[in-house]
Amino acid sequence: MKKNLIITIDGPSGAGKSTVARMVAHALGYRYIDTGAMYRGVAYAFKALRAMHNVQGDYTGMEQFLKNLDIRFEFGDKATVFLDGEDISEKIRDPEISLLASKLSQNRSVREYLTVRQRETGKNGGVVLEGRDTGSVVFPDAHLKFYLDANQDERAKRRHLELSLKGILSGRSVVKEEMQKRDRDDSERDIAPLIIPEHAVYIDTSELDVQGVVDGMLNVIFESEV
Ligand code: C5P
Repeated sequence: MKKNLIITIDGPSGAGKSTVARMVAHALGYRYIDTGAMYRGVAYAFKALRAMHNVQGDYTGMEQFLKNLDIRFEFGDKATVFLDGEDISEKIRDPEISLLASKLSQNRSVREYLTVRQRETGKNGGVVLEGRDTGSVVFPDAHLKFYLDANQDERAKRRHLELSLKGILSGRSVVKEEMQKRDRDDSERDIAPLIIPEHAVYIDTSELDVQGVVDGMLNVIFESEV
């Protein structure tokens, strides 16, 4: 196995991507790049500016907004996001920001802005990128690509647990609805929709525990000829 690989993990929410990506990166001594945190950071900044216009498609103020944006990302074991120097890493996890991030992620300028930053961050390798388009658009020539999936009930259960652990309390059915909406929007958008990238290893995690998924992925990585 080469030293500084680019590894991508895509999939819908609740498939276990973040936990698994973090553990795989840790096992390899790589950096874990949480691209969702970047979309969330931009969404938080957008909300903070109260520019709640119709932001889809050709929202004209977006380029100016991005030009003036002072946002910084640090990627270690987890993503830290700074807006105007303030650490907003916890605030971006709010369900309201999840939906806004999904909405903003349909905007071409936002996607171009973040794709450039993601390529810049990962270009020297030694990275595990996790998101919705990391293997299809950001690094289509990545050394190894994975797509993690799970059935809807299992994903809603995991997402509900994840939010509860963060002290964000909402009913399981509300969480499921929010998740379904986001999945639909992410899969049906015109630009960089969520797809299974070409040559990706597909893993259904519904019946697997986290360690099982990580071990399986590390096997694929070590056995691969890249
Ligand atoms: O992964 P996470 O739930 O943090 O992502 C938040 C939102 O950001 C997703 O629902 C999706 O709309 C958007 N996103 C994206 N492309 C990525 C990562 C996230 O469009 N590579």
